[in-house]
Amino acid sequence: MLFDTHVHLNADQFMEDRDEVIQRALDTGVEHMVVVGFDRKTIPLAIEIAEQYDFIYAAVGWHPVDAIDMTDEDLKWIEELCRHPKVVAIGEMGLDYHWDKSPHDVQKEVFRKQIQLAKKVNMPIIIHNREATEDIVHILKEENAQECGGIMHCYNDVVDHAKECLDLGFYISLGGPVTFKNATDPKIVAEEVPLDRLLIETDCPFLAPHPNRGKRNEPAYVKLVAEKIAELKGISLDEVARYTTENAKKVFSIK
Ligand SMILES: [Zn+2]
Ligand SMILES: [Zn+2]
Repeated sequence: MLFDTHVHLNADQFMEDRDEVIQRALDTGVEHMVVVGFDRKTIPLAIEIAEQYDFIYAAVGWHPVDAIDMTDEDLKWIEELCRHPKVVAIGEMGLDYHWDKSPHDVQKEVFRKQIQLAKKVNMPIIIHNREATEDIVHILKEENAQECGGIMHCYNDVVDHAKECLDLGFYISLGGPVTFKNATDPKIVAEEVPLDRLLIETDCPFLAPHPNRGKRNEPAYVKLVAEKIAELKGISLDEVARYTTENAKKVFSIK
């Protein structure tokens, strides 16, 4: 049994065949998923999907690329949604220095506000990081984010920074990139991060694991991520599945 901790089944790419995609995930042994909503369009859909299936949960937050669009009302809305029984985390939030729609200072402000909210409502956070690890770690420390904890989603940087996140009580989630032939950092991370602090995800429809790289990703492919971690750690797939599922239930407080 596998737990895909980060899916975007609320994306346009799944509008036509979402039920079939979910069925394929179940057939592959994916027992739980968290659908992540990150703006005014994807949040309601994440909630709707989570309400529809017992084994699917939702996370709600504001994406750093669109930080410039977030209003105080949006933040209040996210706070209200945290009381929904299927909402298990706030996010994705963080910093993304690849795209320049939102200035860095606006991204940082929106990130800090969401960490403060997570501490207030006592929920874990899901962190999106693109080319911004040092600033993220700095803000996590300054905001005492160890008080809420959470997940470094689709972690794709050096192991030293991963260790700093572990010290703050965060989990490291690995996705498709760990399976890529030319990937080095995520493979070292898979080897060195202890099994009781690792999670797996697809981030579908993006970042499909090898040998499906470049195609639409889907939750069933999370098994390819788990298999690669098992191979890198020299342990069984069962053990990876058992630990990562247990870790996910723990961080999301799922019984
Ligand atoms: Zn992300
Ligand atoms: Zn995502």
